[in-house]
Amino acid sequence: MTNVAVIGTGYVGLVTGVVLSEIGHTVTCIDIDEKKVEMMKQGKSPIYEPGLDELLVKNISKNRLYFTTNHKEAFANSEIVLIAVGTPQSESGAADLQYIKQAAKDIAHNVTNDTVVVVKSTVPIGTNDLVENIIQENLVANVKVDVVSNPEFLREGHAIHDTFHGDRIAIGAESKEAGDKVEELFAPLNVPIVRTNRRSAEMIKYAANAFLAVKISYINQIANLCEQLGADVDAVADGIGMDHRIGRAFLNAGLGYGGSCFPKDTEALAYLARENEVDLSIVEAAILANHRQSEMFTKKIIDKFQGNIEGKTLAILGVAFKPNTDDIREAPSLKIISSLLKQGAKVKVFDPVVKDLGYINPSIEYCDSVSDCITDVDATLLVTEWQEFIDCDWEALIKYPKVPLLLDGRNALSIERLSIFGWDIDRIGIVPKL
Ligand code: NAD
Repeated sequence: MTNVAVIGTGYVGLVTGVVLSEIGHTVTCIDIDEKKVEMMKQGKSPIYEPGLDELLVKNISKNRLYFTTNHKEAFANSEIVLIAVGTPQSESGAADLQYIKQAAKDIAHNVTNDTVVVVKSTVPIGTNDLVENIIQENLVANVKVDVVSNPEFLREGHAIHDTFHGDRIAIGAESKEAGDKVEELFAPLNVPIVRTNRRSAEMIKYAANAFLAVKISYINQIANLCEQLGADVDAVADGIGMDHRIGRAFLNAGLGYGGSCFPKDTEALAYLARENEVDLSIVEAAILANHRQSEMFTKKIIDKFQGNIEGKTLAILGVAFKPNTDDIREAPSLKIISSLLKQGAKVKVFDPVVKDLGYINPSIEYCDSVSDCITDVDATLLVTEWQEFIDCDWEALIKYPKVPLLLDGRNALSIERLSIFGWDIDRIGIVPKL
């Protein structure tokens, strides 16, 4: 078993650290955020991720999982150091590598034994070379450091499951020995391994995310056309998804993707293509289509009120960018809410986990339940398809709103069932029956 250090305890770093400790490695997680580190030392996860708290507590108590803000302490015995810091979008669209560069310097200044550095963060092609150069230029001790690319594919909300049962682990190494070491680290997970060079591994991650974003934007545009032509996009998705060359996953039409990965990763890949004068218009189109999709959803509700929602009270069900997470980075809800507020509507919000929108807008009314949120409203907008919303007793809820108008932005609710209870429900890509 290996001594491992993980830099960055966000969704990726913390989940990876916890799972590596669960399979028997000794893991020290480092973060610059002291508050987070204090919480984790006490067995409390700073993020909402199903199943994480239990594994956190278990592995701390087995003395396999540690937390610190001190890099020297974390690297003291580690043979492998994983970098899992954020790579947010910068103004140009490119990935902002400031945290990656800092992590590389932290490693160079503090490692005291031969180390394999594993870049888990999603980074532009060539960044592993950059990390290697920064480390070599700043290395204090006389030790050997190899850099291996190992992009992460977990989905928030399913992160623990995905780490144990991933479709593949991509390992991009220039040194066979270093690549083997990373393969050994993950061996107990029994997940299929793809071995390649560093640049290809970096590209696998971007190409995968961009492909999924294209798939979503494609079905969303097909949905918009279905709506005009009287077709039902759910049936269309089922029909095309049965073709094994296409597959049904990621063909759920809706108000568009958000989150901390697809928006920034598609932008970063498109930026790389522009920089290298390569046509990647398919990804550019997917990005544009996604922006338009959430605008179209907002327009849909405004059209229901003949173009004027001033003074109307609207309920927003769901704030997180998708169910089972507390992540609101690039959540479509944020854009939709600000647009509705700008047009003079009053907004009431309920999310099972997110209780704060990250910015203060005193006019937003935060509610404690679905019934509270939809009480006396002129329309209800389903923005995140939490299971709790799908399982609601919509028959009992019909008595709360002023107007039983319901816009399902995730095509999660049944028109047939809810119509019987009296809801005037509209979905994306489906013409409501008159
Ligand atoms: P995050 O923003 O949730 O967490 C990053 C953490 O790194 C923060 O806690 C921050 O305080 C810490 N940090 C920054 N600089 C540091 C330093 N020098 N030393 C120690 N800690 C430092 O990020 P995330 O969502 O976990 O994403 C991390 C990377 O993984 C990104 O590149 C992202 O694109 C990629 N990724 C994310 C997901 C996901 O679902 N969130 C999935 C796959 C890949």
